[in-house]
Amino acid sequence: MTRTKLAALGLDLPLLPTSTVGSFPKPDYLTEARARATRHAISRQELDGLERRATEYWVRAQEELGVDVLVDGEQYRGDMVAYFAETMGGFARGGLVRSYGNRYYHKPVIVGEVRWPGPITVDWWRWTQSLTTRPVKGMLTGPYTIMDWSFDDYYPDREAACLALAGEVRRELAALLEAGAKIVQIDEPALSVRPDELPFAVEAMHRVVDGLPAYYIVHACFGAFETIYPGLLDLPVDNLDLAISHSALDLLAMFEKNPFTKDLSLGVLDVHSHVLESPEEVKARIRRGVGVLPAERVWVDPDCGLKTRTVDEARGKLAAMMTAVREVRATLA
Ligand SMILES: [Zn+2]
Repeated sequence: MTRTKLAALGLDLPLLPTSTVGSFPKPDYLTEARARATRHAISRQELDGLERRATEYWVRAQEELGVDVLVDGEQYRGDMVAYFAETMGGFARGGLVRSYGNRYYHKPVIVGEVRWPGPITVDWWRWTQSLTTRPVKGMLTGPYTIMDWSFDDYYPDREAACLALAGEVRRELAALLEAGAKIVQIDEPALSVRPDELPFAVEAMHRVVDGLPAYYIVHACFGAFETIYPGLLDLPVDNLDLAISHSALDLLAMFEKNPFTKDLSLGVLDVHSHVLESPEEVKARIRRGVGVLPAERVWVDPDCGLKTRTVDEARGKLAAMMTAVREVRATLA
């Protein structure tokens, strides 16, 4: 059914479409330039030029690797929540908190009514799409995760904050679709933090996407899926992107008990490991996926964003993934 939707959107993707979760590593020159920019040692314009150079590098890399649905690589973003919060009205910058490993970010604080300031990601999407004939995904952080990763000093409760954010994320989504985006990924890694809140997270997603025509992917990378499955299937989206390689849980066995009703993006690369997977390993992961779901409903991608890897590691991992996908496609054809 969702392949029909893709076709209706004018997207002709091969069996087992490949994509990536969003972020790619920043080249050293960009990391250094970002540090200089925070000290005001280089201009915003100069930094922008370097971000574009790095974005173009990753677009070409994805094309060379043969990835089907591209991302802009988020070379201009730091943290996925702070990036939106620092742009939106109603937020103030909070203290530093730890996110992953030794990475820290300023946890945003909601201090007033949250407000969409006008297009946030649209120029980047439009420019990236202009570099390639392959579809580029729109990339948004979902309202539940923005709420969960922020302090709230304004709304009466978490639900109110989440639903208010949903209305503003919807405006960004509408602007992306108006610019021409047809596939949009909404990142909700916090979804399993408090399973009892899933109903309003689902309501928030309705508020974001209802009536706006696109193919929607929700990426939820870590946490206890067993606590929110099968409730997760209530999300009004086409595709759920779940980490398979990194998970100790046999998610696919869970689907045998409660059938998975959406398309599945099968995360087959462990993004937290330096070790490069072999194509054989990746093939085995893909085969597990297509053993449980019809191949027509399976996409293949890494477990999460690749930003914590080196440029060479990211390319090496993706090369193994693409080799594996080509071989599995050949056996299915
Ligand atoms: Zn992730």
